[in-house]
Amino acid sequence: MPESSEDLFAMYPLESGAPKNAFPKAEMFGPVAYQIVHDELLLDGVSRMNLATFCTTWVDDHARRLMAESLDKNIVDKDEYPQTAELEQRCVRMVAELWHAPDPGTTLGTSTTGSSEAAMLGGLAAKFRWRAKGGKGIPNFVCGPVQVCWEKFARYFDVEIRQVPLRGDRLTLRPDDIAEHCDENTIMVVPTFGQTFTGLFEDVAAISKALDELQERTGLDISIHVDAASGGFLAPFTAPELVWDFRLPRVKSINASGHKTGLAPLGSGWAIWREASDLPEELIFNVDYLGGNMATFNLNFSRPGGQVVTSYYQFIRLGRDGYTQVQSGLYGVAQHLAKGIAALGPFEIIHGGDPREGIAAVSWSLTDGQTYNLYDLSDRLRTRGWLVAAYPLPADRQEQTIMRVLVRHGFSHDMADLLLADMRRALGQLDRHPPSSSMTQEESGGFTHDAKPAVPAHPISFG
Ligand SMILES: *Cc1c(COP(=O)(O)O)cnc(C)c1O
Repeated sequence: MPESSEDLFAMYPLESGAPKNAFPKAEMFGPVAYQIVHDELLLDGVSRMNLATFCTTWVDDHARRLMAESLDKNIVDKDEYPQTAELEQRCVRMVAELWHAPDPGTTLGTSTTGSSEAAMLGGLAAKFRWRAKGGKGIPNFVCGPVQVCWEKFARYFDVEIRQVPLRGDRLTLRPDDIAEHCDENTIMVVPTFGQTFTGLFEDVAAISKALDELQERTGLDISIHVDAASGGFLAPFTAPELVWDFRLPRVKSINASGHKTGLAPLGSGWAIWREASDLPEELIFNVDYLGGNMATFNLNFSRPGGQVVTSYYQFIRLGRDGYTQVQSGLYGVAQHLAKGIAALGPFEIIHGGDPREGIAAVSWSLTDGQTYNLYDLSDRLRTRGWLVAAYPLPADRQEQTIMRVLVRHGFSHDMADLLLADMRRALGQLDRHPPSSSMTQEESGGFTHDAKPAVPAHPISFG
């Protein structure tokens, strides 16, 4: 062991290199190990300049303190940590009320590790409901362009995904798309309320109406699960007149990511059912080996409790007024950015940050006939530290490339102006020095929403 008075960087193994491929035999001085890990993570970049992610990159000091204080709280251990469990139940009731569940006090819901787990639970509940109604054969669900979690759900749980291709100039799942894809084995339709690709909301009310008509015509009674990963904590505050939630009787379950617009730190999601009877009992396990008897219906057993604790903190700290103020501010920045981007060059805005049309984001495409593409622009912006995603639209519009910025809590008007200035600089460079051959998606960083097996493993599939 080195003397602690020696310079850290002169100590083993900082002078030779950290163990990488095999479990190391020898111990290491704590401060040295810390320095190694800390320094390596410098290369991760600045999360708040990552405009591709939907997830929380800024929390206040109180949330940080509560996270640290909750480090040892296991959410599943409701006997040992009854107050953490109590906060979870309060949050479930609050979110159920926010989404207009008929009886928020008695319905069922749970915190999850994110929307993906919540989506799996919602999908599994739909599968069990379908089976209880006599469903046989191979179950399927109908959706538009979805986040990869739904492709995972399909593959992991043997459910056929019927992803409606985008026809013509369509960007979302439309009500008139649905009927022809539904049959007696359709366990649910999944509209995305805040699409991953463009940020646009799918029209849940119109989709619900189309399913009413389908039922009148054929007798098929198909429920809706809304993937409101980002929209679930936006629209209730910034577009309360939009009807997308449990106000529609056909909506049986909803997921949202607490760690996106819910403003909680990473690792937080919610799955809420319309009524307790919409969550089949087979999914609920009662266990007694942690002390008292407790119900669990999560994919994981042990999970950290801090995400629920900080969610509750955010809910009571901000309330409806605070969330409205925070989220409206984000839309304001998004609209400012959209205006700036439209003025910068040959862009066509797809989603300009209207709170009635989508999440607090801007998405755009490049008009034809340019000497560079959006991957070139994305690559240029990286040299200034900005991560701005460029990727193709999903089937059948893959020929169209788009770019997207997520405006999240902590991304200010001033930061938007800095981004615009860097975009102007990048476009000037690309105009003066047109690339001899343009970037491909892989070369520019491999952003993708795609989960097709043919696509090699990419570092980011969007969360
Ligand atoms: C982010 C996202 C998901 C996945 O959520 P995680 O919280 O990252 O697991 C699912 N659906 C949509 C629409 C999303 O935006």
